[in-house]
Amino acid sequence: MLNQQDHAHIGGQPLRPESLMMSYGYTPAWSEGAIKPPIFQTSTFVFKNAEEGKAFFELAYGLRQQGPEEEMGLIYSRLNNPSLEILENRLCLWDGAEEAASFASGMAAISTTLLALLQPGDVVLHSEPVYGGSDFFLKNVLRKFGIEAVGFRPTATPQEMEALAASLAPGRLAMVFVETPANPTNHLVDLEACAALARRHSTPEKPVRLVVDNTFLGPVFQHPLRHGADVVLYSATKFLGGHSDLIAGAALSSHALMKEIKAMRTFMGTMCDPNTGWMLMRSLETLKLRMERAATSAQLIADWLRQHPLVARTYYLTHLEHCPVQQDIYQRHCLAPGSMISFDIRGGEAEAFRFLNALRLIKLAVSLGGTESLAEHPATMTHSDITPAEQHEMGISPQMIRLSIGVEDPQDLMLDLSQAFEAVGVGQAVREAAEV
Ligand SMILES: *Cc1c(COP(=O)(O)O)cnc(C)c1O
Repeated sequence: MLNQQDHAHIGGQPLRPESLMMSYGYTPAWSEGAIKPPIFQTSTFVFKNAEEGKAFFELAYGLRQQGPEEEMGLIYSRLNNPSLEILENRLCLWDGAEEAASFASGMAAISTTLLALLQPGDVVLHSEPVYGGSDFFLKNVLRKFGIEAVGFRPTATPQEMEALAASLAPGRLAMVFVETPANPTNHLVDLEACAALARRHSTPEKPVRLVVDNTFLGPVFQHPLRHGADVVLYSATKFLGGHSDLIAGAALSSHALMKEIKAMRTFMGTMCDPNTGWMLMRSLETLKLRMERAATSAQLIADWLRQHPLVARTYYLTHLEHCPVQQDIYQRHCLAPGSMISFDIRGGEAEAFRFLNALRLIKLAVSLGGTESLAEHPATMTHSDITPAEQHEMGISPQMIRLSIGVEDPQDLMLDLSQAFEAVGVGQAVREAAEV
């Protein structure tokens, strides 16, 4: 009942996702003409008769093949719920995915997907740095299940990655897990090279999957499935939710892989709840507007920061003139630079802290992708569990500040940044910078 594909075209012309976010997959006649789908705040669903209940369970547990005209019915909200099904159908549109699943958090999406697709003895090759929760899950939780995680730097060349993969015992590599752009350095990983590596090491008995955490640029500015990824993951807490008022996640892939991921979700109970699902649908209506506005402001702010005397260096996706390899990946993968900016302030931790403490409009908080701008200090906050030596290797310095630009007026944001720089004490920072 939910795949209303006919809503997606006019005269054979496919409509764009932003045009479909208000209506796709929902018919007002289902709910007394309500223009918006109601929140299906229910744990269970009444069967018409016992035969129908039996038929639904046969499909849910894969006891028999689905008939050509047969549709999966609603059973219980841990398995499926209309609020989530409409949301999931809409999420598919941005990435061009066959199927999606919504989760209680980004970590729920990541952990459920990895547990669904990996087994004891497997090795996951993963980019570094990755989100702290993913890092812990890869290195500590998967190990308990006999799964090994091997990291590679975003600067690794395709040849170095191939050497790493070739050094593993045959048949052990099961997944390449990538986060790009990397947080907080905005370093890009070449998805096409990773997909080629995964294909080279795949055998019919042991496919190697490319799984991409697309939280930073997706789903508007980067579409990993089009560059060879098998699964795309999101913390929907960030841009998808976009208002810093919910925690959720999503996974998108082919029907075949989503069947495995959704089965694991059913048994782990890591699904999204109907109310959060409904809030995410509301957020999806303004997703592109928010992301475009924030990216336009971020571009202005990043360019302004780059020429500021108290800024030693910016990390932003249109500031890659000195890295032709990175610039090439950007041009192949990304539609816009997004709204995450990192920069090194002149001085060290003391100057960074004075700057952060002086901000007034921009809030000092971790997380990102919301309507309000946020600032944080990666070395002592989001990435504090990484040793200083490793931080240094990853390019995370004590003077680095990460900004998530929101939808405020960019001139007001620059006014705030400007007064925070003044508070740092121009003379002192410049003197210190001259000494090093
Ligand atoms: C926040 C984040 C996560 C974790 O998502 P939660 O919704 O907090 O569980 C995973 N990956 C990236 C890149 C993130 O930014």
